[in-house]
Formats: sequence, structure tokens, C-alpha cells
Amino acid sequence: MRQVMNKTFTPSCQHPGMALKTSAWRAERNRKALARLMKALPAIFPAPVLTYALKRAFIPPMPRLAVDGYWRAHPLRADRLARALAAKSGTPAGWTWRLAKGRNADLPKSFRQPPAPYREPAFARGGGFCCVCGQPVYRLGWHRDLWDAGPNHKAQWHSACVTAWNFWSAPSDHVRLLRRLQERRCRESGKRLLKTAEVDHRMPLFQVFKEQRDLPWPQLLSYWGLPNLQVINRDAHVAKCAAEAGYRKETRDVAA
Ligand SMILES: [Zn+2]
Repeated sequence: MRQVMNKTFTPSCQHPGMALKTSAWRAERNRKALARLMKALPAIFPAPVLTYALKRAFIPPMPRLAVDGYWRAHPLRADRLARALAAKSGTPAGWTWRLAKGRNADLPKSFRQPPAPYREPAFARGGGFCCVCGQPVYRLGWHRDLWDAGPNHKAQWHSACVTAWNFWSAPSDHVRLLRRLQERRCRESGKRLLKTAEVDHRMPLFQVFKEQRDLPWPQLLSYWGLPNLQVINRDAHVAKCAAEAGYRKETRDVAA
């Protein structure tokens, strides 16, 4: 009986030698990575990033990788920060949220894409400024000049803004995190979230484009961020989408 249980519940015990080999390999790899990281680490380095890097199963061997890994692991923090930085920049004078017509590649093709004035050639601030939020980018893609070294003129993205952009563009990739935030309750029905639950924009993005287009740009971004995201069960999502399609048709008819 014990043999059967071992076989069923602890498959790694079948190859204890291999597990040991893997852990020895990882320890050796981490020892080398830590040595490289510490050698390359600037005298001033954000403490939470270092703490997170040292806790990882695979320690990042370079400071920049540590920064990127930190933000990737904290998408909600990145979302909040990117929107706060955008608020600091404000809407560039003369900019309005427009979509590409025909072959115009300078504008976003769809209202699903977060509006990004500083990515548009007419408003881009050039090297050393982030094309997502418009603020200066410092060493290691950081958003504050901890080193008093001025902007890094070769950089055009904050590390945090890369993560925020990915979060805004594909929130479904973060469904597990969002489920946890909602304590696994459907925001539409209040029922327990099923495995098939989906990420939804509370106010659909077509409606944002239709009705909220003239809001100041930094405020618009919150429709892609956490304030406008929810996880709902599939049946509730289908019903919501049907209601939204009805609303779209209605507003089209009124406009016509
Ligand atoms: Zn930025």
C-alpha cells in the first residue's frame, strides 16, 4: 500500500537523483547570477527591486533584468504608476484621441488600443522620454532620477510603463490576479466565479471612444487600467455583450 501511495502522490521520488541534480544546478546558477548582479549593481538601487530579485527561484544576473522582473510581477503597481506619470505629463496641447483612417500608421487602428499621444510622431518627446507616459526615463528604465544623472537619452520606455502597456493591452493575461482581487466573486452576478470566467471592461471601450473621448488623456487611461476591469462569469459576459450590442445599434440608428 505504501508503495502504491508513493507512486501516486510523490512522482519525483521516482527520480530522487534527478531532483538533487536539478537543485544543485540551480544553486550553482544562482550563486553565479548573484555574483554578477552584485558586481553590476549601482551604489544606489531601489530596495524593493533588490529584495524581490533575491527571493526569486532564478536570481536575475543583471540590474536591468531585476527591474523588469520586478514590474512584470507587479502589474497593478505598474498600472497605477504609469497613470500617475501620465497625469504629471498631461494632455499635449492640440492632441485629441483619433483613430487611423486608411493607411495612416501614426494613429492607433482601433479604440481597443490605449490612446498614447507621446507615441504619435507629432507629439513624441524624443530620446530620454517615455512614449507611454511622456515623463523622463532614467537609468535602468527607472522613473525617478535616483542617481542624479539626468535622463537616459537612449531610452524611450519606463520599465514600469512596458508592464502597464502590456496589462492595458491584454488584461486577460492577468485573469488569475484579478480573480483573486475580487475574492473569486463575479462582479455582475455576485456568484462564485467559474473556471471559464472572463475579463471584461466595465464600460466597454467602444463606449469610452464614443462618449468619453474628450476627457483629459490621463483620465482616459483609467478605462484600460484596474478601475475599469472586472472578471465576470461567461453567461453574465454573454448577456452584457448582447446588451452592449443593442446599445451600439441604438446609438448608430439615432446618429443615422
Ligand atoms: Zn512611462
